[in-house]
Amino acid sequence: MIILDGKKTSNDIKIEISESVKEIVAKGSRPPHLAAVIVGDDGASLTYVGSKVRACKKVGFESTLIKLPKSISENELLEKVEELNNDEKIDGYIVQLPLPKHIDSQKILMAVSPDKDVDGFHPTNFGKMTLGLPTFTSATPYGIMELLKRYKVETSGKHTVVIGRSDIVGRPISILMSQKSDPGNSTVTLAHSRTKNINDLTKQADIIISALGVPNFIKADMVKDGVVVIDVGITRVPDNSQKGYKIVGDVDYENVSKKSSYITPVPGGVGPMTIAMLLMNCLKSYQELLKT
Ligand code: NAP
Repeated sequence: MIILDGKKTSNDIKIEISESVKEIVAKGSRPPHLAAVIVGDDGASLTYVGSKVRACKKVGFESTLIKLPKSISENELLEKVEELNNDEKIDGYIVQLPLPKHIDSQKILMAVSPDKDVDGFHPTNFGKMTLGLPTFTSATPYGIMELLKRYKVETSGKHTVVIGRSDIVGRPISILMSQKSDPGNSTVTLAHSRTKNINDLTKQADIIISALGVPNFIKADMVKDGVVVIDVGITRVPDNSQKGYKIVGDVDYENVSKKSSYITPVPGGVGPMTIAMLLMNCLKSYQELLKT
């Protein structure tokens, strides 16, 4: 069994990015600049955004954290988005989800300029990804593909079962895995909460990508020997530690890993890759905006 080490791989990627930044700065240009917008004070969102900002520092990017009150109106947030679209010093930005209930997230994400949409959530970028055109692929599916690529996991001709059909993970990774590409060329089944007899599907799978957010959903008797397991799930489960919780994936790692050929741990698998690929998208955005 080989552990798909997202921590190590994401560090390798960050080193590659920081080398590119050093070259950029040595030529006298400013470094890439990523901004993050956060509305309200949700603990998990603040943690995610905080680690994105720290990662920027690590690779030599400039970063700006824009904290807005929970009471902000949809129009005021749209104005902020427009400001960021027009700010020449910002190459890419993210609007951290979830947004408060009184704000239509879809409306906000649609207002982000596709040229700065380093999360890859805008329909223009999602459409380009679907057609296999150069674009910002959203960071989590991009990170999974990069992990498979760097570990040379064979995906061609394999049966991949994706569980979860969210716009940010399940659906895009099911598209990427079925594309005529390497990694890719898989035969993909996309399962969700209405799927019947999910065990019958997972038992046939050569590759399982689990993105549902239910701790220990995938058990050893649901998988075949030699399976490749990508665990995207992140659930905070209360415990007695100082933090008061631990992070748990969708997979019963202890038992499933014994039957796996490759497996991602949680934490230390897909999570760190997501941040590295966000930085990669910001570097791409910087390079593209320089051309215009
Ligand atoms: P989501 O929007 O939370 O949706 C969950 C998906 O799982 C839905 O498609 C749902 O089906 C399906 N589902 C739920 N219970 C199920 C069940 N018992 N059997 C089969 N399918 C079931 O998805 P998400 O935003 O992609 O998040 C999924 C997990 O990944 C969460 O734990 C999240 O924290 C984690 N995540 C991790 C990263 C990372 O960087 N590692 C990034 C993003 C998300 P329906 O569509 O039918 O409701």
